[in-house]
Amino acid sequence: MTDAAIETVDLAKRYGGLTALAGLSMSIPRGDVFGFLGPNGAGKTTAVKLLLGLARPTSGEARLLGASLSDPRAHREVRRRVGYLPELFRYQGWLTGREVLGLHVELLGVPRERWGNEIDRVLLFAGLTERGGSRVSTYSKGMQQRLGLAAALLGRPELVMLDEPTSALDPVGRHDVREIIRALKEEGMTVFLNSHLLSEVEQVCDRVAIVDHGRIVASGTFAELLAGDTVRLLVTSLGDADLSRFGRSDREGDWLTMRGIAAAHIPDLVAEVVRLGGRVHAVQPTHESLEDRFLDLLAER
Ligand code: ATP
Repeated sequence: MTDAAIETVDLAKRYGGLTALAGLSMSIPRGDVFGFLGPNGAGKTTAVKLLLGLARPTSGEARLLGASLSDPRAHREVRRRVGYLPELFRYQGWLTGREVLGLHVELLGVPRERWGNEIDRVLLFAGLTERGGSRVSTYSKGMQQRLGLAAALLGRPELVMLDEPTSALDPVGRHDVREIIRALKEEGMTVFLNSHLLSEVEQVCDRVAIVDHGRIVASGTFAELLAGDTVRLLVTSLGDADLSRFGRSDREGDWLTMRGIAAAHIPDLVAEVVRLGGRVHAVQPTHESLEDRFLDLLAER
């Protein structure tokens, strides 16, 4: 295995007869913002729990910052260098933000003389400096989410695992969290982002894996995943035509959509449609979004 931040080989988890994760193999380089993307129930949280040692794999192997899951001592040590924002968390409303962070920083084993500085640092990062002294019960959802993020950043972890960090937030809150993730990357941190929000992942991640029913159905950089462009043609008088050599085609009424076509081949496609008797009324090139690709992949399955 290489010196990746996260590496898994055939990592699997079954709960009774249900396969939550079916043989996950992936490698995430240090310093990457990695998006783990999939519909509800795909197995994303299960993968995070296995990586963090919160659940045991049924089979397979994984390494977190070089420490193997099958070496509990090394894995426990390495978890000090990992920040985690769980999907569903709730802090005690009667505590102030600073008090919540105080509990976490104490549990982390940070020396007492650094507690104050460390709490100030993460409050600033999360944009909560002004409200650190207020009770959590007076926080908006977005502020609570940012407090969770701040807690995950205590102790300057090398890797942070964020499970759906923005699903409860409005567009402004999402924007703020994206900015925080970008700042983490600037600091050289590796970020593992679980999400079912495609646009979110598209805006902030270097690489993604798309997971469905416990399996990775596609992975890579956006350039790799979204290979080629999409063009829409408004065509009449075109009978059945095999255009598969240009990409993945789809007909809806008079609209022909071709996905995964290289931009340079669009004139050839139009020429071929005309040669086959089609009358072309409009040609609309567009970029395929991750959402299109995601829906395509799930539909193919
Ligand atoms: P979501 O986006 O809804 O959080 P997810 O991709 O994180 O979904 P998981 O929570 O990993 O999905 O769940 C994957 C599958 O495993 C689901 O079918 C779920 O019901 C099942 N599962 C998860 N945890 C357990 C458990 N402790 N016992 C039994 N089944 C479980």
